[in-house]
Amino acid sequence: MTSNSYNPYENAQSQFDRVAKIIGLDEPTRVLLRQPMKEYHFTIPVHMDDGSTKVFNGYRIQHNNARGPAKGGIRFHPQETIDTIRALSMWMTWKCAVVDIPLGGGKGGIICDPRNLTENEQERLCRGWIRQLAKDVGPFIDVPAPDVMTNGKHMLWMLDEFELIHGGRFPGFITGKPVGMGGSLGRTEATGYGLIYTVREALKSQGMRIEDTSASIQGFGNVAQYAAKLYSELGGTVAAVSCWDNTDKKAYTFYKKSGLDIAALFGIVDSFGTIDQNKARDLGCEILPEDAWIEQDVDILMPAALENQITLANVGKISKQVLLIAEGANGPINTEADEIIRKSGMFVIPDFLANAGGVTCSYFEQVQSNMNYYWEKDEVMQKLDAQMTSAFKAVREIAKKNNLYMRDAAYVISINRVAQAVKMRGWV
Ligand code: NAD
Repeated sequence: MTSNSYNPYENAQSQFDRVAKIIGLDEPTRVLLRQPMKEYHFTIPVHMDDGSTKVFNGYRIQHNNARGPAKGGIRFHPQETIDTIRALSMWMTWKCAVVDIPLGGGKGGIICDPRNLTENEQERLCRGWIRQLAKDVGPFIDVPAPDVMTNGKHMLWMLDEFELIHGGRFPGFITGKPVGMGGSLGRTEATGYGLIYTVREALKSQGMRIEDTSASIQGFGNVAQYAAKLYSELGGTVAAVSCWDNTDKKAYTFYKKSGLDIAALFGIVDSFGTIDQNKARDLGCEILPEDAWIEQDVDILMPAALENQITLANVGKISKQVLLIAEGANGPINTEADEIIRKSGMFVIPDFLANAGGVTCSYFEQVQSNMNYYWEKDEVMQKLDAQMTSAFKAVREIAKKNNLYMRDAAYVISINRVAQAVKMRGWV
């Protein structure tokens, strides 16, 4: 799902190698952790509504399960690549480890464009993905969840197919289920809110208050919407958001210096995170080109769309005013741009810490599903805040103590935890 020259797996491996060297990781553990343990590549034939049959390519990658069952989303995207999924599965391992939940890392996907598929075709595709993997995933093996262009409806079709094959009810098999069908209250908000809990803590650590800051956000899908909502409810000014327009095949930035009305934008965005441009103009938004979100004079940038969005081509456009980048998306800054940002002294909350709210809440969902007992939303959000805040503080502490970039400090914690699990199991 990336431009030709960028390989997210190489990015993930080079981030890992850098820290493996800093902590002096032994050779077998280094070799084991710098690649996935298991990969499944398969085909999914789907009977289309017009009577034809189309064959899709599906994937599931389990990077590591030393700390618990693999965990990670399933993406539907026309430009999905195996290396993107490898990288994402690796980041899931570090993500679960940094927030200290007993899960490993996995990721999956199907190369498809759900915008061009009917509901029935999407259902058959979901069921087909499960049929290919039913023996290799499960509540104690590998637990999928929604990701880009997948949602609770897809998860429920997948759960249903899994239960049909295995005979029984296994609500802990998949997370991101709709509320009332085993889903957790708060899961929809969890990643975006979690991102803002870390932003709040980062600002606190710099002696700043959210109320005195402004932000520009790339994307306006699940993560970006709820990040924008909580950030503005806490008093921050969201000056810009952006989104992809699938008709024009390009992205746009929606800008209002005095602050966008986030509640109103919720009313004019579709389920794929595309904002209606005419209605946005009526709300007083200026509509600017794709990269404009990165150029604004704001205090905080939150890339929350896709990987490989801040590169050598646009890193120089970041305003001098920006003091914090909170990575809502996975891998939004590529390796070369990250070098420049690292040297600039800008404070970065790395992706696998900043967006760990989703998987943390997914873990809460699994716990609730397995207990067959459900928590109130306040309880979920309080637990989420506590987990994210404590993870942020632990990373910040290591960064301060060892004079490390926040990304490296987060890796130090995660790699050490996973390496310890691998050793305690006697694998290396
Ligand atoms: P989504 O599909 O709900 O939203 C994606 C948004 O990005 C949409 O608004 C889309 O229009 C926009 N977008 C796509 N291409 C763009 C471009 N070139 N420029 C500007 N905007 C563009 O996806 P999401 O669930 O919000 O996920 C966003 C990112 O966060 C992904 O990297 C995902 O892996 C990561 N993430 C998501 C979760 C989660 O719980 N949803 C958890 C952790 C990480």
